[in-house]
Amino acid sequence: MNKQVLIDAAIRFTRSSEENIISDPVALSESVKGLVIFDDPIFSFARADDDLFSTLKKPSVIGEHFLLPHEWLEGAKTVISFFLPFSEAVRTSNSRESTWPSDGWLHGRIEGQAFLKSMCLKLQDDLAEAGFRSIIPLTDSRFRSRSGPGKTRDEAGKGGQGIPYYTSNWSERHIAWVCGLGSFGLSRGLVTSKGVAGRFGSLVTDLQVEPDGERHESFLSFCSSCGSCIKNCPVNAISFEHGKDQDICSKFQDEIKEKFKPRYGCGKCQVGVPCEKNMPGRRGKI
Ligand code: SF4
Ligand code: SF4
Repeated sequence: MNKQVLIDAAIRFTRSSEENIISDPVALSESVKGLVIFDDPIFSFARADDDLFSTLKKPSVIGEHFLLPHEWLEGAKTVISFFLPFSEAVRTSNSRESTWPSDGWLHGRIEGQAFLKSMCLKLQDDLAEAGFRSIIPLTDSRFRSRSGPGKTRDEAGKGGQGIPYYTSNWSERHIAWVCGLGSFGLSRGLVTSKGVAGRFGSLVTDLQVEPDGERHESFLSFCSSCGSCIKNCPVNAISFEHGKDQDICSKFQDEIKEKFKPRYGCGKCQVGVPCEKNMPGRRGKI
């Protein structure tokens, strides 16, 4: 078992799995029947004891509640992070609509996430077959996320009780950043070599491999600060001064959830922008 075996298996799975295609019974409209959700994934691997994981425990980043790789899996050696870029059909459908999510984007958030979980399980099976243990934090019973009312990040930083307002004990985008898949953009998406529009997943395993990926000390290495995401946001949640205002974004997402339930998603800051499928900025490499 090595990195390339896992990557090849993931690419084959993405190309062949029917879960990566919108089937007739679930399609929200004629236009999305047969829609392919994701293009081939990209991967990056980090040592489980990489110091950068510890920085995620700082209150200014995620906080003490973030669980380190070895806290998820005793004897962890490697963190595997991957990015599944949305297909052109999903991206362009969403950029054609200026306010509400397209049917393709709504599928990407729900059926796309289901496919992502299946891919994690497939990789976990492959690792187990080769004699390695792994866990998928996203599907683990210890996984916690919070997006409802509660203590804000500022309050938590000042000694408030409980975990911050919008947070989780394992953040796929932060994990991808540590692994070297990309850096954050003004819109707080992670800008990778395949852009920002897509979904992230990860596993923690005791398989030992050489770490790879470029390390980016700056959070904004690959964002060109073009401001296109500011213009695209229907509710003005993004600004040069403050980045993304999570409260404004979240309230709009609640409106979308109500209108499209049980589906949701917006992503206007991720399409029709220079970082949609590319890495426009390039600075701050360690
Ligand atoms: S649209 Fe421009 S400013 Fe916004 S995240 Fe992408 S590169 Fe950065
Ligand atoms: S997801 Fe939508 S509401 Fe939230 S910042 Fe992006 S464009 Fe704005």
